[in-house]
Amino acid sequence: MSDHIKLFIPGPVEVRRPILEAQAQWMIGHRGKPFETLFARIQPKLRQVFFTQSRVFISTSSGTGLWEAAARNCVSDDPAGGVLATVCGAFSERWADVFERNGKATTWLRVPEGQAIKPEMVREALLARAADPNKRPFEAIAIVHNETSCGVMNPLAEIVSVVKALSPQTLILVDAVSSLGGVKIDFDGLGLDVLLTSSQKCFGLPPGLAFAAVSDRALAKAATVKNRGYYFDFVELEKFLQKNHTPATPAISLMFALDRQLDDMLAEGLEGRFARHARMAQRVREWARRQFALFAEPGYESDTVTCVANTRNIDVGALNAFLAARGMHISDGYGALKGKTFRIAHMADTTEEEIQTLLDAIDAFLAQAG
Ligand SMILES: *Cc1c(COP(=O)(O)O)cnc(C)c1O
Repeated sequence: MSDHIKLFIPGPVEVRRPILEAQAQWMIGHRGKPFETLFARIQPKLRQVFFTQSRVFISTSSGTGLWEAAARNCVSDDPAGGVLATVCGAFSERWADVFERNGKATTWLRVPEGQAIKPEMVREALLARAADPNKRPFEAIAIVHNETSCGVMNPLAEIVSVVKALSPQTLILVDAVSSLGGVKIDFDGLGLDVLLTSSQKCFGLPPGLAFAAVSDRALAKAATVKNRGYYFDFVELEKFLQKNHTPATPAISLMFALDRQLDDMLAEGLEGRFARHARMAQRVREWARRQFALFAEPGYESDTVTCVANTRNIDVGALNAFLAARGMHISDGYGALKGKTFRIAHMADTTEEEIQTLLDAIDAFLAQAG
């Protein structure tokens, strides 16, 4: 039996062999011409995937590092300002916690896990803030586009238009860690300020890098914010980006892989890539509705990860053992949803055929379990 277990979990995802191999190039220094050439080659390709003419920072960290970056650079420590943190599951809750731990005034807008953040809720929160004589407008709003813990995709464009209409000065910070590269998010078209993601989800890379598109407006704001810290200071990152450098030594091997993967993503075509994700999602949802039920609120199901309500009360551990013998692995429910749900990721370079093989194997498990 092969030791290769294909991952159908929402990060880290399955990485294709040519991408793994791209990491095995000879090392180069990060202050020389070859690195500058690599960085300069990557930048316009990243901008295409983010749909922006703005800069896209490359961070040697996971996405969590850029959560901290957004909190430290885009929100001051003024208790009358602060951030509106929208929370609909475990990841958005953690990001809200990151703002709090960095000492930022954090207003929570929370819905039960499995439900989406609606534009009307954001409208209400913004109106309440405007009516409060002791406060000024929110400096930022934080939105997790795709809540990986419960398979909910929030209506980003609708939320953004409410913010633009009612509180145009508020910076719009978006976590698209488990959707960017699988679903179209038009940074410039929507007028976002920070849009961040990690390498190990829809980009189909190993973990270790994170990317963030940052608007001129967010960068200007950062310059006015005290205590931005050191490693994730946008002002510093921008200074180095202008020279095709990073402030500290980056994960150069991963950047070789990124360079190659961006070529492959653009060769597939972004529209084609998004369409493939939508088809995989539809296939998994149809299967899940037939065999179980969907956990996410209808109409807000994610196109990159499906959270299946475990209505038959199967043993998810036993299912994974069955799948492991067939070279596959899926994800149990997250946190409190463990056992009550399980998750199938359909992201990055996964094919419809691979998804079908997985679903057929789960059907075989269900048939033998009776
Ligand atoms: C995975 C994930 C994160 C955390 O990213 P890391 O790269 O593990 O730090 C944050 N937000 C969402 C929505 C995620 O799916």
